[in-house]
Formats: sequence, C-alpha cells, structure tokens
Amino acid sequence: MTGFLDARPRVGYFYTGKDSNELIKAEVNKKIVKDYKAQPIIISESSSVYDGICTLFLEDVGTMFVVNSKGHLAGVASRKDLLRATLGKQNLTEIPISIIMTRMPNIVTCTMEETLLEAAKKLIDYQIDSLPVVRPVEVNGRTQYEVVGRVTKTTITKGFVELGNEAVI
Ligand code: ADP
Repeated sequence: MTGFLDARPRVGYFYTGKDSNELIKAEVNKKIVKDYKAQPIIISESSSVYDGICTLFLEDVGTMFVVNSKGHLAGVASRKDLLRATLGKQNLTEIPISIIMTRMPNIVTCTMEETLLEAAKKLIDYQIDSLPVVRPVEVNGRTQYEVVGRVTKTTITKGFVELGNEAVI
C-alpha cells in the first residue's frame, strides 16, 4: 500500500525501487483542481464598488470574479482593490467595479485538469489569494473564458490536510 513493494503472480513481492520522495510526489500530483475547486463568486462588470463590498460580506469571500454581459471573465476584484476605492470621497454606488478591478488579459487562471500543486505555485509566484478556474470558449475567433470554479489558499490547505490524513507513506 505504501508503494515500496509490489506483487506479481509467480514472482512474489519485490522492491519497486521507488524512494519515499518519489512516492510523496506521486501522491501530491494526484490532487487535481476539479476535485477540490470551490464555487466561484461572480459579479457583473456593470455592478458598483458598493455592490462589490456587499458581495464580499454576504458571500464571505476575499475575491470575486467579474464577468462581462456575455458571462465571460473580465477581471478580478480583491478586498484591497475595494478598500482602495473607499479611500476617496466618491459615491461608491456610482463607481463601476470594472474601474478598480484587475482586468483581462492580466488575470492568472487555472483549468479543471491542472494539479493542485500547479495552482498553488501560481498563487505563490503571483502573490495572489485566488485563481478563477476557467473553461476556454471560442467566440468570433477569440478565446474567452467561462468561470467554472475558484481555487484559493483554503482550497490548497484542504488538499494538504487531506494528504496528511491519508498518511499513505
Ligand atoms: P488582497 O486584496 O486581499 O491582497 P490578493 O493578494 O489576491 O488579495 O490581490 C492582490 C492584487 O492582485 C489585487 O489587485 C487583485 O486584483 C489582484 N489579483 C487577485 N487575484 C488575481 C488573479 N487571479 N490574477 C491576476 N490578478 C489578481
């Protein structure tokens, strides 16, 4: 069960030659985004910063994904983006969220088939808290992205805890 030994008919048990590092790596790489992703919290590009802040509290998230009228990914608004927008004296109901979000094509995404490890590396490399899980769609010869999930630091932590609880090695 640990992967150190295997069995074959008429051969019996034999040493697989794999060391524990390889086995740990193999277990980590079995964790795929599609099995861990959370529901994405989505807001329309035409919503206001005020709506964005309400969504943040109502949905208990740190980041929301902003979509255009066709439902395709347009940007990401995080708590700091929203907080920054509150520093001025403007009316928050009149500032569109599209002004303060980080917009495409600068959004770091992942797909259902990626490993959790690859997604975790993106969170670290780009110093962000969450990634939209996307599905590419071709629209008039251009690639657009549907948002089908979200990977956050919590998602990665869940995978990590599960790995520890499985205690295969
Ligand atoms: P916080 O605002 O809590 O620090 P983040 O660290 O995730 O949250 O966000 C930092 C900045 O990175 C924000 O300006 C946000 O819009 C941007 N950002 C967040 N997630 C992504 C992403 N997946 N791709 C590109 N930019 C992102």
